[in-house]
Amino acid sequence: MIKVGIPRGLYYYDYFPLWKSFFDSLNIELVSSDKTTKDILNLGIENCVDEACLPVKIFHGHVVYLRDKVDYMFIPKYISLYKREYNCPKHLGIANMIYHSIGDLPQLIAPKIKLNSNEDFKSAIYSIGKMFTKDKSLLNKAYKESMLSHKKHLDWLKIENMPRIKKLDNISEKIKILILGHSYNIYDDFVNMNILQKLVEMDIEIITPDDIPEKEYRQYSDGFSKRIFWTGGRKVVGAAYALIENKEVDGIIYLSAFGCGLDSVLIHIVEQKARSENIPFMIMTFDEQTGEAGFNTRFEAFIDMMKWRNGFENNISTFR
Ligand code: SF4
Repeated sequence: MIKVGIPRGLYYYDYFPLWKSFFDSLNIELVSSDKTTKDILNLGIENCVDEACLPVKIFHGHVVYLRDKVDYMFIPKYISLYKREYNCPKHLGIANMIYHSIGDLPQLIAPKIKLNSNEDFKSAIYSIGKMFTKDKSLLNKAYKESMLSHKKHLDWLKIENMPRIKKLDNISEKIKILILGHSYNIYDDFVNMNILQKLVEMDIEIITPDDIPEKEYRQYSDGFSKRIFWTGGRKVVGAAYALIENKEVDGIIYLSAFGCGLDSVLIHIVEQKARSENIPFMIMTFDEQTGEAGFNTRFEAFIDMMKWRNGFENNISTFR
């Protein structure tokens, strides 16, 4: 059976189930790399340019991990997912970066996902499938299955449906924190040092941008005089604005990778909004040097501050 490798990084967290169903339907084995570890990170650091952000380095590590285990390496170029919008330039160029930085690669499959032109996801998917089969009915079936899986995955991403996160009880009593950032920072437990589970164990209710309906966060991200044209940016900003304006969140933790160009703008927009509504806001920036003890101390202090403020000070800061 043909084996196609998919690195567990960047948009893996958004699209893996879609691609898995697609390749399964074509009788092709889709093999993903293991969860990120220190070894995978080190492989990434050794094989990537120094200036890249942490998620891109980690992606390189996953490619090196997989390269001897598969016949093809699958790295879609997610150029645009909506009309008049683009993704971060690193998503656009990741396949080329990999091609030029890592040797002895299996054959690269790097289709362009470019939905701002006349293409839709269907034609993008068909163009990949045609590399392996000419059977139209098989391609149709693969397309339908993949869309179904993608829809299920979007539901699964909602915090209440995540099996690895313990179920919450007494939700209305709890402090509610929005964990903000790009999906690969929120869902890669190695990168964020398992912050979601740690917060739940501290009796905190957590919410992520995936819990906000797409229509709602896109509506909120439309309200700027200068249009936000990064799809990832619209999700981050729109989700934060929706929750802040509807008073549905007590605090925000922004998970950001050092060197992220988009975040340098997005953090500023969200922070301003949070401050204007008196919502506690904290940025957790990580790179390959970040230690877990320092990371834990910072967010634990943030939670303590929130509990103290909510419980004893009637939402007034300590020095007023
Ligand atoms: S959005 Fe930021 S973290 Fe993500 S790939 Fe681009 S620069 Fe890196």
